[in-house]
Amino acid sequence: MADADCLFCKISSGEIAADRVFENDSVVAFRDINPQAPTHVLIIPRRHVATINDLTDGESGDINLLFEAAAIIARTEGIAEDGYRVTMNCNAAAGQTVFHLHLHLLGGRQMTWPPG
Ligand code: 5GP
Ligand code: ZN
Repeated sequence: MADADCLFCKISSGEIAADRVFENDSVVAFRDINPQAPTHVLIIPRRHVATINDLTDGESGDINLLFEAAAIIARTEGIAEDGYRVTMNCNAAAGQTVFHLHLHLLGGRQMTWPPG
């Protein structure tokens, strides 16, 4: 179900443009407008879910598909073998700013741990 006020629902529907790198019936992936690594792709379910806290059993399949898309995109971006990071921020303390679930796929540089 789309949320009429949600930026990522509008990107999913095509109402707002984005640099798409992958999509299927359930997920869409596009480059982050403010990339934090040479590859920084956001992978979202088409179905609107605000945060991890709002997930229900009905979306568990979507979550699998986000990770399957991450693996496909990592290969096409050429970062699968060197390695990459996937991150999902939940609410304010983690720095979530867009309240439509999204997996960050980051790669193309050495990551540090712990994250900031
Ligand atoms: P969060 O902080 O919620 O985990 O991540 C939201 C991400 O969305 C940020 O990395 C931000 O740069 C990205 N973002 C915000 N607005 C847009 C937009 O209009 N287009 C694209 N492609 N990315 C966006
Ligand atoms: Zn949405």
